[in-house]
Amino acid sequence: MNRRKFLQLSAVSSALLSVKETLAAGTSGTKPIVISTWAPNIKANAEAWKVLGNGGRALDAVVAGVQVPEADPNDQSVGYGGLPDRDGKVTLDSCVMDENGQCGSVMAMEYIMHPVLVARLVMEKTPHVQLVGDGALQFALANGFKKENLLTPESEKAWKEWLKTSKYNPMITVENIQEKIHNNQQEKETPYPWPVPRLNHDTIGMVALDAKGNLGGACSTSGMAYKMHGRVGDSPIIGAGLFVDNEVGAASSTGVGEEVVKICGSHTIVEMMRHGYSPEAACKEAVRRIIKNNKGKAKDLQVGFLAINKKGEHGAYATIKGFNYCVTTAAGTKVIDSKFMI
Ligand code: ASP
Repeated sequence: MNRRKFLQLSAVSSALLSVKETLAAGTSGTKPIVISTWAPNIKANAEAWKVLGNGGRALDAVVAGVQVPEADPNDQSVGYGGLPDRDGKVTLDSCVMDENGQCGSVMAMEYIMHPVLVARLVMEKTPHVQLVGDGALQFALANGFKKENLLTPESEKAWKEWLKTSKYNPMITVENIQEKIHNNQQEKETPYPWPVPRLNHDTIGMVALDAKGNLGGACSTSGMAYKMHGRVGDSPIIGAGLFVDNEVGAASSTGVGEEVVKICGSHTIVEMMRHGYSPEAACKEAVRRIIKNNKGKAKDLQVGFLAINKKGEHGAYATIKGFNYCVTTAAGTKVIDSKFMI
């Protein structure tokens, strides 16, 4: 073989190898399976598994799972007890999407503990996809939901403390997060749930593949702490915070929502999987686009993505260290530290 041919051949085979790596960078698939953002959501996975493990529907599983952090006053990023906006109001965002490509969402809704249930009703009972603010609240009340005060004394205290400086800071520095993770190491020795580093954001994004091979997803958050009143991030936006395509896979996100919206994060990931990327490689590509958009500033920017495909393979990727996700299958639950780019 002459040198030129040899070089051509090795270029082709290394290109093939990298395609193969991209396709194979996942995990071996299994179903049913449910995955969710952040370690404390193993409790949410357990609830979802009660549905999935009994042959139930992916959508029912994720809606059951997401209600766990929504009702937990100690989770200050989702539902009841969520940190308020800068005016002291707790405003919630949530969405759902099912195996038929149907979806519903509520945005900036106050006083209702389970926005995921209202999002599901928007999908099932209205000709619309999205309801916001007072319209979402009125719809919830008309459907029998109870109006409740969602601002717990702890979250009110944190807000009043924040008011002293009133500095909005959605970023978290790498040093800061590494220190928090380091402080957390000893607790890692004990079984989960150990307290994970508290960020000022950590939405639940949950996607599942059921025994019948159908996908579903849900996402819920109180959004970025101390945001402007009326601000909506990625979490209730179909295609940004969540996307499900029953032919391909499902993805969800957490972190600084503005950056996820700018790249249509979850839709991007599902499309990458459609073109043969593994869940992890697809999440990595979405992260790469966010980092590219944030030239030099991305080291302080946490965004995490997770995804599953139709085979039940899962994966995740984050901009910086600190993101983790919970995976539950018939073999049990594990918390996996996500890879990260910076
Ligand atoms: N993604 C959410 C938002 O931007 C924040 C989070 O993940 O906690 O509203």
